[in-house]
Amino acid sequence: MKRASIISIGNELLSGQTVDTNAANLGERLLSIGIPVVSSYTTGDDIDSIIRSFNLASSDADLIFATGGLGPTDDDVTRQAFAKFLSTELQLQKELLQKIQNFFISRNRQMPSKNKVQAYIPAGSKALANNLGTAPGIMAEAKGKLLIALPGVPSEMKQMFEESVLPELQRFAGGQAVVIRKLKCFGAGESNIAELLGPLMQRGRNPLINCTASCGVITLTITATAKDKDKAQQMAEKDEKSLRNKLGELVYGTEDQTLAEVVGEKLAQQKKTIAVAESCTGGCLAKLLTDIPGASRYFTHGWVTYSNSAKTSELGVPAHLIEKHGSVSEQVAQAMAQGARKRAGTAFAIGVTGIAGPTGASEQKPVGLVYISVDSDNGCETKRFIFSGGRGTIRLRAAQTALNMFRLKMRY
Ligand code: ATP
Repeated sequence: MKRASIISIGNELLSGQTVDTNAANLGERLLSIGIPVVSSYTTGDDIDSIIRSFNLASSDADLIFATGGLGPTDDDVTRQAFAKFLSTELQLQKELLQKIQNFFISRNRQMPSKNKVQAYIPAGSKALANNLGTAPGIMAEAKGKLLIALPGVPSEMKQMFEESVLPELQRFAGGQAVVIRKLKCFGAGESNIAELLGPLMQRGRNPLINCTASCGVITLTITATAKDKDKAQQMAEKDEKSLRNKLGELVYGTEDQTLAEVVGEKLAQQKKTIAVAESCTGGCLAKLLTDIPGASRYFTHGWVTYSNSAKTSELGVPAHLIEKHGSVSEQVAQAMAQGARKRAGTAFAIGVTGIAGPTGASEQKPVGLVYISVDSDNGCETKRFIFSGGRGTIRLRAAQTALNMFRLKMRY
């Protein structure tokens, strides 16, 4: 099996100014064609450091990807480092120079003399076309390795990878097929899920099942590797079935689906509408729902009723309920959902009230306490949760949990 290593080049990556999305993107794309990334190096714009990274990457992998530092300015030194690593010189490629000049002509601009350096690539290497910018990529085969340098700008890097690099890599991967499936789950922690799956999650197994968690959403990635695509597909499908059997209604979707997308699709199919009444989530629930294109088909109203008086005047929550039980209570969450549904005239409404912290807690009502209520023709269901984490996490967890509660309610 061929293996890859990635070198991310740029001082801005080391200083934290720029987050390295290129390595993540390349890692995902390479794995999808059967080439796992076994190491990744980040280095500044310094010739010696880049050469050191090329040496390290070469000892790890068959295929080395470098991104960044191909621009025309003096701090862009990847070209020089690449040539030095190959023990060769940079050579002017006339066709490349013409292409760069044409890039400027097509934009009614004169090529700055600095851009000429981009027409120089290490002798014996091949230039990769860049249809979005001026920096060509560079590909070379040396010391039994395939080395590829791509521009740092993520959109240029991605396009060049898809158009110029992928055809070369499929040949290089040696006929191995990888199929990746993702299952999205909500309602249990990583360790509960691992327990439910047992030996399916064993390391070294094929298909390999990986688990990642982000704000309550658990993503299970099934990676099946086989000689051909059909076989890999069958293996992934078989595992997906087993996972669904074991996890039941914890699985809410596939690939990159969000909870809001899934409930939105169901609402649209059933031609039903929803309104939300939020307190501690401050509009987060409405945002998640309206992030989905076409949400106007089912989302009608969102209230952020932060104060007690707003809960009463906007949603009709009786003042005596708030006085008796407090604004963070089962009774008030229920009255918020019922009031929102009545005023909006929707099929469903969700009410959320809680303490996002870090202040506002009492002994009976700790930070993270949230009541979520879902109201429909079938009655009102209210649940009590205690979320942990900072203010942002609690708010997002509460909004996501509200969507999940609603998803489960919609099954019937
Ligand atoms: P340019 O022609 O723009 O100079 P380049 O190949 O020299 O291209 P850089 O100058 O290193 O690339 O980076 C260009 C832009 O791309 C910068 O905004 C940089 O922050 C961003 N960038 C570089 N590397 C990465 C990376 N690994 N992940 C995400 N963004 C990156």
